[in-house]
Amino acid sequence: MENCIFCQIIEGKIPSNKVYEDEYVLAFHDIQPVAPTHVLVIPKRHITSLMELAPEDHVIAGKIFSSIQTIARELGLAEKGFRVVNNIGKDGGQTVYHIHFHLIGGRTLTWPPG
Ligand code: IMP
Repeated sequence: MENCIFCQIIEGKIPSNKVYEDEYVLAFHDIQPVAPTHVLVIPKRHITSLMELAPEDHVIAGKIFSSIQTIARELGLAEKGFRVVNNIGKDGGQTVYHIHFHLIGGRTLTWPPG
């Protein structure tokens, strides 16, 4: 997707601070972190949002969640806990329309979010 900032990160046209990569998934530090650890986990294939995730994308969905486990362990978040957030659409607070999962941790998080 030409105008998608995350596709440009995947293609290496925009630099990112990568923490994980495999055939299906890329993860990198958020440019505006809201916690000591704030990583974005994205599929390499352009999918606009969770609402466009199709049944045949089950391998991608599985890879996203297994990579979140790997990243959480590697960054030392697994023991104390962390949060995974997926914003969907305007009211959901989505600003980048390439599905992504925020992995947020490194401090005690409050609930409910704003
Ligand atoms: P959303 O609001 O759930 O769509 O989250 C988009 C996230 O992408 C925000 O937390 C932004 O800070 C982050 N972001 C936008 N551009 C970049 C970038 O170039 N590198 C890393 N993170 C980015």
